[in-house]
Amino acid sequence: RSKRRGRSQITVYSEEIAEEMRFGTEVEQALRRAIIADEMAVHFQPIVCIRDGTIRGFEALARWTDRELGFVSPGVFIPLAEERGFIDSLTETLLRKAARTAKDWPANVFLSFNLSSVQLTDPTTSLNVLAILNSVGLDPRRLELEITETAVMSDPETAAKVINELRAVGIRIALDDFGTGQSSLGRLRDFAFDKVKIDRSFISEITVDRSAEHIVRAVLAMCEGLHLMPIAEGIETPEQAAKLLELGCDVGQGYLFGKAAGADRSFAMIREEQDRLIRARERANGSES
Ligand code: C2E
Ligand code: MG
Ligand code: MG
Ligand code: MG
Repeated sequence: RSKRRGRSQITVYSEEIAEEMRFGTEVEQALRRAIIADEMAVHFQPIVCIRDGTIRGFEALARWTDRELGFVSPGVFIPLAEERGFIDSLTETLLRKAARTAKDWPANVFLSFNLSSVQLTDPTTSLNVLAILNSVGLDPRRLELEITETAVMSDPETAAKVINELRAVGIRIALDDFGTGQSSLGRLRDFAFDKVKIDRSFISEITVDRSAEHIVRAVLAMCEGLHLMPIAEGIETPEQAAKLLELGCDVGQGYLFGKAAGADRSFAMIREEQDRLIRARERANGSES
């Protein structure tokens, strides 16, 4: 195609690519340095019972602010680490950090962690994950790994093997961003998942677009039939929460309940909830006597 466009077009095109590559390399170097300098951070977003807001778990989300580049979105640096071949070391430092925090939460609060698509094509992933959990001392039954449809489909055989090994030690698997990938529902039967996260694009339209509501209804029915736990992503308004409850979805996350924040905030949220419970119990006891 570029041949037909002539020489000048090619020059512009390749200069753009070169510029992009230079920028990519700059970010790559900064990112590699940040990993070694232990500057990568993990934030935690609460996953709650929609009915009363009680905390079920937290999703770990990677955060990086570079001195020169400023805040860089994980939507940028995760794919870069995947492309340039160091997603393993990035994941290792992030999972280690997340697990260290999760270890100090009450045992019924789970940690949800995003696994990169590249790692589902790597047969050593389950051993690597287990080694990290062992060294930190986090019970695998408290960990949930989020994977995407696209990741599963790129190498279904290895993915199935990795998923089965992870589940064998008690780690749960959640299918992330459900509804946005290109897999067929039929193919999903071949994999053992525990949870399905309904993508934010459906939740954000659920009270305004009938078709979004119908899709969510269908996903919830599928989850019920296949014994998968549904989790709604990106709940921002009380109306969306009410609609989800009406449709039978009890668990979710979103700005309505809390944005991702530092580890300290996760402990504060857990403490506040415990205090609320204690006060409610005291009131109930007081009214009895
Ligand atoms: P994701 O796993 O689907 O994570 C949910 C994203 O939606 C997060 O963006 C979160 O901050 C955002 N979000 C949550 N609730 C709301 C809401 O109510 N409204 C809106 N507008 N957004 C909401 P974030 O942190 O920028 O992460 C983007 C993506 O980057 C993640 O999507 C995930 O695919 C990837 N990612 C983040 N951290 C990691 C990580 O540690 N490892 C890997 N492999 N991927 C990660
Ligand atoms: Mg996720
Ligand atoms: Mg998601
Ligand atoms: Mg999403």
